[in-house]
Amino acid sequence: MKKNNFYVTTPIYYPSGNLHIGHAYTTTLADILARYKKEMGYNVFFLTGSDEHGLKIQQKAEAQGVEPKVFVDGIVETFKNLWKLLDIDYDRFIRTTDQDHVDAVQKIFTDLYEKDLIYPSSYQGKYCVSCEEFLTRAQYDDDFKHNVCGNVAIDFEEETYMLKVSAFKDFLVKLFATDFLIPEARKNEMLNNFILNNLEDLSVTRVSFDWGIKIKENDKHIIYVWLDALSNYITALGYKSGDESLLQKFWSDETEIVQLVGKEITRFHSIYWPVILNGLGLRTPDKLLSHGWILNRDTKMSKSIGNVVNPIDVINTYGSDALRFYVAHNLPTDRDGNFTDDLFRESFNINLANNVGNLLSRTSNMIMKYFDGSLSVNADLNSEIMLSAKKTIKNYQAKMDKYNISEAVMEVLKLGQECNKLIEDTRPWDLEKEGKIKELELFLANIRQAIIVICYLLKPVLVKNYTRMVTQMGANANKIKFENLLSDEIDFAKIVTKEIIFERLK
Ligand SMILES: [Zn+2]
Repeated sequence: MKKNNFYVTTPIYYPSGNLHIGHAYTTTLADILARYKKEMGYNVFFLTGSDEHGLKIQQKAEAQGVEPKVFVDGIVETFKNLWKLLDIDYDRFIRTTDQDHVDAVQKIFTDLYEKDLIYPSSYQGKYCVSCEEFLTRAQYDDDFKHNVCGNVAIDFEEETYMLKVSAFKDFLVKLFATDFLIPEARKNEMLNNFILNNLEDLSVTRVSFDWGIKIKENDKHIIYVWLDALSNYITALGYKSGDESLLQKFWSDETEIVQLVGKEITRFHSIYWPVILNGLGLRTPDKLLSHGWILNRDTKMSKSIGNVVNPIDVINTYGSDALRFYVAHNLPTDRDGNFTDDLFRESFNINLANNVGNLLSRTSNMIMKYFDGSLSVNADLNSEIMLSAKKTIKNYQAKMDKYNISEAVMEVLKLGQECNKLIEDTRPWDLEKEGKIKELELFLANIRQAIIVICYLLKPVLVKNYTRMVTQMGANANKIKFENLLSDEIDFAKIVTKEIIFERLK
C-alpha cells in the first residue's frame, strides 16, 4: 500500500562529549531518506535529538561543578551546529529535558503501571556502569566482561520497577517473522539471543541517582534510560500532550515509519520499543534499519586508539556534500564500513570529480563551444541514453524504497559512466569536423537531459551543489521534478558557465 506520510528518526544522541563520524553517518542517512521522500511527494517528519539523562551525565556535570542541564546545554549546541554544517534538515530536535517530553514520559509510565505492565520489584544481577546497561547472561563472558565494551560488569541489587517484557514473547515472535528489522542477520541474533532464549523483564527505574524523570507513583524513583529515551519518538509528535494532531498524522497506518539505529542499540529498539508501543496500544514502526559501524582500517574507532574521525574536520576540508556523498555511497548499511582519508579522497576523485563533475564540465563546454550555450532541440526520449536514464530512475527508486541508499547511488553513477563512455565512443568533436551539426546537437541534448536525471537523483545527497549542477546545464532547478525528468518540460536556458564543480583532489 502506498502511504502518504513518512516519519524517519535517528537515535537521540548522548551529550557526554563531541559527536563522531558514526553519529553523522546515521543522521545523514535519515536526512537523505527524508529528502528523497519529499521529492516523491510524501509529507515528511524527520526527528533527531539528544538523550540527556543518566548517571554518566550527572557525574560529568559534577566533575565540572555545574548543574547537569547546564552541562548538556553547551554540548547540545555543538550537536545542532554539526547538523547545520551537514545540511541536516530535521523537523524537530527533541531533548529529553524538554518539558513536554518529561510530562508525557510520566504519563506513559503511569499508563503502563495502571495496566499492570510495570510492577515494583527489585533488580538483582549484572550491570555495566560504562554502558549504563543491565546485562542478560548472553551479554557477558565467564570473566563477567561486557561483550560490547569489555568492561567488567558489577553485581547489582536495587529496588526498581520492572517492565513486563516476558509477557510479550508471542507478540515479539510474530513481529520477528516479518521484515520489520533489517538486516536479516541482526534479526536472527535478536531472536536467538534474547527473544527465544529466556526473555527477561526490563528494569525501568533507578533510585541511586536523581538526574532523570521522576515517576509520579513513588518519589524515590527516576525513570531509567531506555523508557525515557525510546519514548521520544512519540512524545516528539505530542503523545499524551493534549494535542496529538502530529501523532495522529505521523504515527498512523497511513505513515511509513522508519527508524535508524546503530547495531549496538538494536536490542532496545527491536524488542523493548515495540513492547512499550504495544503496551500503550500503538502501532509498531514499519522498519528498523540497524546499520553497522564505521571502522578505520577495519579497526573500531575509539578515543584510546586515537583514530576517531571528527566530522567537522572532514566538512571543513572537503565540504558537506563530499561527506554526505561518502556516507551515501561508500557505507552500505548492512555491514560495517571503512572511513579513512585515503578511501575518502579516492571515492571523491573517482565518483564526483572524474565521473559526475567531468561529465558536467565537458558537456557544458561542448554546448558553449559548438552552439554558443543553447541547443535548439530537445532530447530524443527514445534514444539509447534516455532509455538507460529511464531504467536508472526505476532501479534507483526500487533501491531507495528499500532504504538501500548505497546501491541507489551506484545506479546513478553507472548512468554517469555510460554518458562519459558514449561521449568517448561518439566523438562529438568529429561530428563537428564532419559537419554533422544536427546529429551533434541532438546528441548533446540527449546527454544534457541524462545529466539532469543524474543530478536530480543525487539531489537528496548533494544538497549544496545540486542547484549549481543543474544551472551549469542551463536548467532551472525549480522546474525539475520527478514527474518531468523524462519529458520536454524542462526549460533550458543558455549555458553561461563552465566552472568545475567537483575539482579533483590532489
Ligand atoms: Zn559495557
